[in-house]
Amino acid sequence: MRNIETDESFPCPECGHIGMHTERVCDAFSYGSGKDQVELKAWITLDVCNNCSSKFDTEDADRIRHNEICNHLQLLSPADVLKIRVRHQMSQAKFAELTGIGVASLSRWESGQMLQSKSHDNLLRLCEARLNIDFLERKASKEDCSIVDMEKMQMKVEPRSLYGQKLNSARMAGTFFDLRKVG
Ligand SMILES: [Zn+2]
Repeated sequence: MRNIETDESFPCPECGHIGMHTERVCDAFSYGSGKDQVELKAWITLDVCNNCSSKFDTEDADRIRHNEICNHLQLLSPADVLKIRVRHQMSQAKFAELTGIGVASLSRWESGQMLQSKSHDNLLRLCEARLNIDFLERKASKEDCSIVDMEKMQMKVEPRSLYGQKLNSARMAGTFFDLRKVG
């Protein structure tokens, strides 16, 4: 982390003074145009010159404003988009290939350079579920399957594994009972 109090490579762009401090402010900014224009608020950190008091945006401020816009539009934030792909341990190329989203678009959404459309946002949210990723993988390998069949298969598997768990805990209880008898 740079120290803005002393770092000589970051002089004030206004007066050239070396030495700034940070300030947390509630920043109000407008978003959109015409009748869709709204005023949004975000708590951001600014760099402030110790000499001329000029205020400068930080990268963090841009990120926080962007998140506030996503929140207003009910869209996933860049960090949320990234989290979905990472959850499935996929590269951008692999995730893009599977979903049909362009790598460049995905990269722009993850870095906050661009906002995804509502339909892409919905696609991303659906991709959070493992079942939907499994379905896309099967489809990509040209396996004949429907997502409804996959859902049914998953429902058949679950009660069986629950039964297995019950058996195990019954066995455990038996073990404890035996121990108590002996002791
Ligand atoms: Zn200054």
